[in-house]
Amino acid sequence: MLEKIRIILVNTSHTGNIGSTARAMKTMGLSNLWLVDPVSKPDSHSSALAAGATDVLGNAKIVETLDEAIAGCRLVIATSARSRTLSWPELSPRESGIKLIQEAQHDEGEVALIFGRENNGLNNEELQKANFHAIIPANPDYSSLNLAAAVQTLCYEVRMAYLQQQEFEKQETPYPLVDDMERFYLHLEQTLVGTDFIVKNHPGQVMAKLKRLFNRARPEAQELNILRGILASVDKLTKK
Ligand code: SAH
Repeated sequence: MLEKIRIILVNTSHTGNIGSTARAMKTMGLSNLWLVDPVSKPDSHSSALAAGATDVLGNAKIVETLDEAIAGCRLVIATSARSRTLSWPELSPRESGIKLIQEAQHDEGEVALIFGRENNGLNNEELQKANFHAIIPANPDYSSLNLAAAVQTLCYEVRMAYLQQQEFEKQETPYPLVDDMERFYLHLEQTLVGTDFIVKNHPGQVMAKLKRLFNRARPEAQELNILRGILASVDKLTKK
């Protein structure tokens, strides 16, 4: 089940941090590492810091975009050192560990935990791809942990939840995969452009706010089908 938990590093600059991340993961029993557009590919410096976790490093999947890394996931949690302008549903590291373990027990789909760049974290667009944000409640005057230290902290909470998993109920709700949510958002945007609710050249913040609304509600797969059906019925009218 721990294999279904993806640890995703976005645009990492220091290859040493990639190695330290592999080590942090392996000590907690995790092995599913994804690297999105790393500034440099893992090198000898990564291997040195990975120590006995070179297998995790060697099996890391390297992809171009965050969308590729979260495809096939039904729960996505993004980590951030601070709250952002458009506030998003938040979880503590402990709650994140429990949720990841609960939803990793589902037969289909994986779950993901995303970490940002050493210099400036994750941007808004990336943060808005997540269902929840996880913030380590660090010293408010100095809240930014080293990337691999943040990975270690979250992976430790995943391990604690895993060791106590019989206490947490398996999450049975058939949430859609992020791929289906993305298709829904595209459809919604097209429909709203079709009705002139969204002006194509001045879209504003409306899609980000709608994404936050649907993300907060977290529709189940069947509910998402109803919403798609409603959009299709609107499309039919606007095409007339
Ligand atoms: N200066 C950046 C911090 C980047 S630290 C910023 O302000 O966003 C690199 C990464 O480590 C972050 O993107 C996040 O994934 C993780 N991280 C560091 N400190 C964290 C904290 N207090 N809570 C959660 N994640 C943290």
